[in-house]
Amino acid sequence: MDNALGLARAAVVLKPRKARPFFGRHPWVLDTAIARVEGEFTDGDVVDLLCDKRRFIARGMINRHSRIRVRLYSWNADEALDDAFFRRRLEQALRLRTQIGYDDPHGAARLVYSEADGLSGLIVDRFGRHLVMQVTALAMSARAPSLVQLLAELASPQSVSLRVDGETAKTEGIRLEPGVVWGELPSEPLQIVEHGLQYEVEPLAGQKTGFYLDQRENRAAAARYLRDRRVLDMFCYTGGFALSAIKLGAAREVLAIDGSARAIAQGEKTAAANNVNGVTFQQEDAFAALDRLREAEEQFGAVILDPPKFARGRQSVNDALRAYHRINRVAVDLLEPEGILVTCSCSGSVLREDFQNMLAGVAEKSGRTIQILENRGASPDHPLNPSCPENEYLKCFICRVV
Ligand code: SAH
Repeated sequence: MDNALGLARAAVVLKPRKARPFFGRHPWVLDTAIARVEGEFTDGDVVDLLCDKRRFIARGMINRHSRIRVRLYSWNADEALDDAFFRRRLEQALRLRTQIGYDDPHGAARLVYSEADGLSGLIVDRFGRHLVMQVTALAMSARAPSLVQLLAELASPQSVSLRVDGETAKTEGIRLEPGVVWGELPSEPLQIVEHGLQYEVEPLAGQKTGFYLDQRENRAAAARYLRDRRVLDMFCYTGGFALSAIKLGAAREVLAIDGSARAIAQGEKTAAANNVNGVTFQQEDAFAALDRLREAEEQFGAVILDPPKFARGRQSVNDALRAYHRINRVAVDLLEPEGILVTCSCSGSVLREDFQNMLAGVAEKSGRTIQILENRGASPDHPLNPSCPENEYLKCFICRVV
């Protein structure tokens, strides 16, 4: 087994005219681009990617289970994908978070973001001194024990936990047991601070890895427009936007609605713990709530929409856009003149341009003018890799609706 050396066991030869994206550093080689594999290998092994003329393009790891047959990690023929390589990549990723000031030991941050940190299939979030690792590629699951050791050494956490998404595990053929894999995770929820607000996070029980880190800067950005306004925070989860609206933005009051009873209970607890008054949490289906509020002719100075992913893939984009149109249409109806609309989409297959066109459709149907004030994405601890646009998923438009 040459994996410890990080050198290629086999060569993956592309079909003619399929090499362009990989010279352009796209890290996913789909099965359909591959002519043949030369040499013996097992899934998770290091392989070299060659063009049809047998020129070296990049080094990666193969997985016959996945439609992403090879994930690429290095474009340097002299670079082995060994432990030293992973150490360098992790150090580089950690340095970014320090560089952008996301290193408050009481705060939370995404430490590793897959393709954007040159580590396709690995996500690591930090909640205070505790790390949560998500593995979304077989190649990374095979290396999980050494990655955990490296993280323990480089980030000095109190614990490292592993989360595995069932769906991804199936498509990648990952067999890993979720749970605490290093150190000790307290049984009570963790406390983290964001924008001076304290939140409880349960890394193993909460949604995703327990807290929506990607919206951090958007919560602060939105708050700036909310002074003295009556705000509706729809799909509020544990109240990230709602609490920031009051605490940072001096909003007058917030009605915060989510379908999850657990999230709502957590939100109420968080508001009380932070002495934040003025947020009313309510458990209700968002679609029903929007219709009910419109029926009652309620008016708000601002509406925040942060729904879950509506599109699972390219084929459901049109349905998703219809759903976005529907909720944004009602949100606009609920807004007083010159009100603020903060509207988000975390569906990766809905492109920024599609989302903007959806807003144009809402302007047309409602007869209201929409001014986009800020066209935002995820926080900088979720960098984007220009070679892998598939990773850009979060859109957050802050608008004024005249
Ligand atoms: N704005 C939040 C994150 C929202 S995530 C924050 O800043 O932390 C999306 C939320 O939508 C989740 O909390 C989920 O419980 C909620 N949700 C999903 N479907 C829903 C529905 N039909 N009605 C109401 N809430 C729903």
